[in-house]
Amino acid sequence: MIKSKLPNVSTTIFSVMSQLANEHQAINLAQGFPDFNTDYELISRLNFYSTQNYNQYAPMTGVEKLRFLLSEKYSNLYQSYYNFQDEINITSGASQAIFNVISTLIHPNDEVIIFEPAYDLYQPTVELFGGKVIPIQLKYPDYAIDIEILKEKINDKTKLIIVNNPNNPTGRILSENDLKQFEQILQETNCYLLADEVYEHITFDGKAHQSFAKLKSVKDKVFIVGSFGKLFHITGWKIGYILAEKELMKEFRKCHQFNTFSTHTPSQYAIADYLENPEHYLHLNDFFQEKRNLFIEGLASTNFDVLPCEGTYFATANYSKISDLPDDEFSKQLTIKNKVATIPISAFYHNKIDDHVIRFCFAKKDETLLKALDNLAKL
Ligand code: PMP
Ligand code: GLN
Repeated sequence: MIKSKLPNVSTTIFSVMSQLANEHQAINLAQGFPDFNTDYELISRLNFYSTQNYNQYAPMTGVEKLRFLLSEKYSNLYQSYYNFQDEINITSGASQAIFNVISTLIHPNDEVIIFEPAYDLYQPTVELFGGKVIPIQLKYPDYAIDIEILKEKINDKTKLIIVNNPNNPTGRILSENDLKQFEQILQETNCYLLADEVYEHITFDGKAHQSFAKLKSVKDKVFIVGSFGKLFHITGWKIGYILAEKELMKEFRKCHQFNTFSTHTPSQYAIADYLENPEHYLHLNDFFQEKRNLFIEGLASTNFDVLPCEGTYFATANYSKISDLPDDEFSKQLTIKNKVATIPISAFYHNKIDDHVIRFCFAKKDETLLKALDNLAKL
């Protein structure tokens, strides 16, 4: 028997709910992935590079053109400068970037602060490297970050704070003022910050994404992570990236080179060509805002109580008027009986706090959303 390094961890809720959805032919609004086609222009670039034999190892740091274009993108959008040679690296999805930041930074007994509900990758990864997770509970229904509580939790052992903005699963976003408060904390302490910004281009109602890349005074303490899976509807390609000041990046690369070495080559070339045209990502917020509106307006006429959604492609809703089952059981029943799969929010809390809230992914064709709404309206 192997002595488990993660004795309390089971299969991720995303796999569990997708499998249940498949078994019961339910509409899968659980796992976060689009069900519509990827732009043919991007696919044809991938095809081009594969057939032109761009099929050997990419540089460990990532394809140069792609890093160069990312550097330009961050200069244009946030007026923040990251050198494409020393401060940007392509990774195998945002997941590998996050895993690698944690492996780079965390020594046994280091403390890492996360805000729950939290994406399920953070805690087990910290624990794999002997770190201790200090969760701060964001409370239903606002899920707002209380900076005073954060300050109280920081001590000499605090090595890292992980922030996911826009937030999965709550759909909340941070304001410019929130970022200023984080900046002050980073100036006054020895902590690093990992900004998981994979939903950077999915913010709604004219509110701009506040990237931690804007915080120039603490650039030497911040890692920024992004994902092309979210940006270009290609979650299965697993290409992401990391931006960090060059001393941080030097250490990151020491781990990265032995973690995976490099990332899928033809995808990187294809994405680089596609990224050249900002039109390919600057309207993503409008595209998803229409889907959000369609879905939450539909949900508002059911017995679900919809919570605000300022960003990401996830909506959350309370089902107390429908059932008093625990949220994991409710999600299961909804999948099996009503043929709509969702994610119970308790899965994002280490102590499984259950406010009777579930998460729906609305990155789906309108017809898929309408069909799901039809089923939900019967409850
Ligand atoms: N962070 C968050 C908040 C996510 O929702 C996801 C899931 N897509 C990831 C990281 C991982 O991204 P990727 O698929 O690029 O590994
Ligand atoms: N990020 C996606 C979500 O939150 C799923 C990623 C995964 O399946 N690991 O649903």
